[in-house]
Amino acid sequence: MSAKPAPTREDWEKLESEITIRNKAFINGQYVDAVSGKTFDCVSPVDGRVLTKVAECDAEDVNRAVTAARAAFNAGIWSREAPARRKSVLQKFAGLIMKNKNELALLECLDMGKPVKWAGAVDVPGSAGAITWYAEAIDKIYDEIAPTDRRRSLALITREPIGVVACVVPWNFPLLMAAWKFAPALAAGNSVILKPAEQSPLTALRIAELASEAGIPDGVFNVVPGFGETAGQALGRHMDVDALAFTGSTEVGKMFMRYSGESNLKAVGLECGGKSPSLVMADADLDLAAKKIAMGVFFNQGEVCTAASRLVVQDSIKDELVEKIAGVAATLQPMDPLSPKAIVGAMVDKNQTGRVMGYINKGQEEGAKLYYGGKQVLQETGGFYIEPTIFDNVSNDMTIAREEIFGPVISTITFKDMEEGVKIANDTIYGLAASVWTRDISKAHQLAQSLRAGTVWVNTYDDVDMSTPFGGYKQSGHGRDRSLHALEKYTQLKTTWINIA
Ligand code: NAP
Ligand code: MG
Repeated sequence: MSAKPAPTREDWEKLESEITIRNKAFINGQYVDAVSGKTFDCVSPVDGRVLTKVAECDAEDVNRAVTAARAAFNAGIWSREAPARRKSVLQKFAGLIMKNKNELALLECLDMGKPVKWAGAVDVPGSAGAITWYAEAIDKIYDEIAPTDRRRSLALITREPIGVVACVVPWNFPLLMAAWKFAPALAAGNSVILKPAEQSPLTALRIAELASEAGIPDGVFNVVPGFGETAGQALGRHMDVDALAFTGSTEVGKMFMRYSGESNLKAVGLECGGKSPSLVMADADLDLAAKKIAMGVFFNQGEVCTAASRLVVQDSIKDELVEKIAGVAATLQPMDPLSPKAIVGAMVDKNQTGRVMGYINKGQEEGAKLYYGGKQVLQETGGFYIEPTIFDNVSNDMTIAREEIFGPVISTITFKDMEEGVKIANDTIYGLAASVWTRDISKAHQLAQSLRAGTVWVNTYDDVDMSTPFGGYKQSGHGRDRSLHALEKYTQLKTTWINIA
């Protein structure tokens, strides 16, 4: 028996001609235009064409969504349903996402440029998997009784859904980052309003009707596409939103803290940027390190919050490692995202491409050595593509070592001994992730403990599992996605005293 051949570009073009791209907001169980009637162009970075015009929601649409979400929450049609019932609806939702896997993968690819193969292998099943994970968990979580004096009273500690939850998400893993938030929020019984990034609204809009089809009641899951400054800010400042779960840049994360402080003090969970160091000791397996670090920084066009963007390497092995990473980079050249061969696709848009190219120029101006790549390519397609890029001779105070580039660019910085390596690795405002490369198990543990980051990988990179919490130290944010810990963001803790004396 031969394996089914991978779909070709022609297969994907045929699928695109058969589907209807959803472009309206989804509020209270209905697709609706923005109240203003305004739309914005949804441009594909694959070839620069306009895919559709999407409803441009602003404060008025956000108001409508919040009203619907609050009404559904108060009605108890979801919030007070038995967890086992929410479980079965969410399982059905996940099943419908998988049933439409190819369509969703294609939308993700056309909308933000990642290879369709990866969207189908990672983003879509990962999103369905997140929903299933919380669905399966939610009817197995017990509440507590406090060890008070039981002769007099009983003190129950129960978790309740927090209420109306807004999720504001970025464009690099549009569906997956959204699912990491709305899945636990919905499982816990909340009503959700999702604002996708302006660059990548299409999968969020498509799954809204799948949620409805699965049996999620009207008003419980709403999607408001639009711009950050309008729709995003309106959610952040809304007096009737109880929690705001954000993934995006540190700069915008800080704005959400301000919005909350200046409005109703809503709970804010932040998954922000990173500048993750790979700390490579001289005794490391360099082939393994090169392979994983290259994939860690160039995968998804480098548009990854945990991108391995700082190579912090012991000086004696630096040249050898950089050469090996360049060898892997050569196999990760950007390609047509609809090609079955593509491992790396298009940058999300023209702006981000310009931003990344700006950093590549800045690196050279500040005296770093451009060792590999550094050019925009495939311009003839009308799309946006950048080669994997390696800088050598970087010092940790250069702009390319300090600021999040969010593109396929790695900066090489050397150190002499372990102490200096840790100091450089931790010398950043971020603390999302880090990796350690050594064959010495004691060193591995010591280094893992001394790195100030929410995730540390030892001799590996980018391992993910729903069972592990994910989030940042320092200005990479607070609160965690994934695992049961994520439910803390979407629940209130209530103490109920019962007098039994
Ligand atoms: P971004 O510019 O911060 O935008 C994120 C979201 O916030 C988008 O929906 C955006 O809407 C909205 N927004 C922008 N300005 C706003 C404002 N003034 N008020 C309210 N909302 C606003 O980030 P991005 O460029 O989409 O994504 C890249 C960033 O996300 C990187 O920093 C990356 O590290 C981070 N990220 C973090 C994680 C993590 O888990 N830690 C995961 C993925 C990405 P518009 O799109 O309409 O502007
Ligand atoms: Mg787009």
